[in-house]
Amino acid sequence: MTELPAEAAQVVAGCHVGSDAMRRSAEVAGNGAVLARYAADYPAGPHDQPQSMCPAFGSLRVGLRMRRTATVLSGSACCVYGLTFVSHFYGAKRSVAYVPFSSETLVTGKLFEDIRDAVEDLADPALYDAVVVTNLCVPTASGVPLRLLPKAINGVRIIGIDVPGFGVPTHAEAKDILSGAMLAYARGEAEQGPVQAPRGGPASRPTITLLGEMFPADPMGIGAMLDPLGLAVGPVVPVGEWRQLYAALDCAAVAAIHPFYTASLREFAAAGRTAVGSAPVGRDGTAAWLAAIGEACGIAAAKVATAQNRFLPLIGEALAKAPIRGRITLSGYEGSELIVARVLVESGADVAYVGTACPRTPWSEDDRAWLEARGVPVKFRASLEDDLAAVDALAPDLAIGTTPVVQHAKQKAIPALYFTNLISARPLMGPAGAGSLAQVINAALANKARFETMRAFFEGPAEGEGGR
Ligand code: SF4
Repeated sequence: MTELPAEAAQVVAGCHVGSDAMRRSAEVAGNGAVLARYAADYPAGPHDQPQSMCPAFGSLRVGLRMRRTATVLSGSACCVYGLTFVSHFYGAKRSVAYVPFSSETLVTGKLFEDIRDAVEDLADPALYDAVVVTNLCVPTASGVPLRLLPKAINGVRIIGIDVPGFGVPTHAEAKDILSGAMLAYARGEAEQGPVQAPRGGPASRPTITLLGEMFPADPMGIGAMLDPLGLAVGPVVPVGEWRQLYAALDCAAVAAIHPFYTASLREFAAAGRTAVGSAPVGRDGTAAWLAAIGEACGIAAAKVATAQNRFLPLIGEALAKAPIRGRITLSGYEGSELIVARVLVESGADVAYVGTACPRTPWSEDDRAWLEARGVPVKFRASLEDDLAAVDALAPDLAIGTTPVVQHAKQKAIPALYFTNLISARPLMGPAGAGSLAQVINAALANKARFETMRAFFEGPAEGEGGR
């Protein structure tokens, strides 16, 4: 058994020792390289730790949405309880396996053996393509060495990842950790020899892989816009099943629709694929994106112009039919905040602030530059305090944000919308995306009087710990 170094053993008391102690412990316990890679991939500052969901929720959700994929968590029972509760709240229909530990099994290294036994029990090729094992905070800080798990058991791939709250700033970036690990594995398989074809057979045209979870209609809309270029839409990463990883890597170019997939993009670069940032949102965004895709894939300028001439007028018409009038602050942790802001600006909204919990990357540069050129301030790694301060200072007609931002705004009688539930659940790309936000946003903007009435009614009794 691999015993834990004494310093690392101190953290078995629990995650309340603080993130610095957890980080130091992880380094002593041999996990320094993983943390150094995360620090480079997911640069911190000013916001450097999750202020919302446990980051492991991101990778957990990615695994739970994949066919024939088993999920195992290793961490404190309270963390696992919270994560499984939230995953089932959000509709997961799959069990999450859990390997419990005590301070003794953690310190003596028996926990690693228990994980290995659990993985061996689970690895049935009739049921699974892959088993994903995730170290949460305490096992990561204690250096439980998932890298020493077998790479495959009975042909079932074993993927071990560390997703600690003290090294991964957002749950968005945890999606990248798992996607990147799976792409690396699949790339290795593809380099060894033939791999499984996609369910519908190989694509008849060169494809564009889409990076980032999006509304289900958006890939279809993007496919229609790629058609005049002689291209087709490929898989969306995070993928729905293992075999899609090969098709994703086998693309003509990869579109970093969400710009924080740093580890995944490293795998695409290693496979020789060009990446394109931003997204086909609004008139300007779609024009630039089609041009960038055309350039990345060596498509004749005339074909790009055909696509632009076909779709840009449709987008312009849709935007003109559904104008948005009002001052809006927008914040979130999905990674799509900048492209949503672009659609709002093209719809006529006065977007006064954009905050994203995700970091600045090369793939968000075009969106940042476009927004800032129109006077829209963009704050990367925005903290909750930044987002609340924007609502207070800018007095918007509508605040779009995370739960605490929405709550704060509503207390001030400012209409507010949840980013995740209401904005991410709509098409955003091309003609279908233009104007799709207007309905929900204009309805919310029209609610100001109701919020005033509600504030007058509720003010006082429900405030503070004991009311008044
Ligand atoms: S794994 Fe870490 S970040 Fe997640 S709930 Fe537990 S202590 Fe918090």
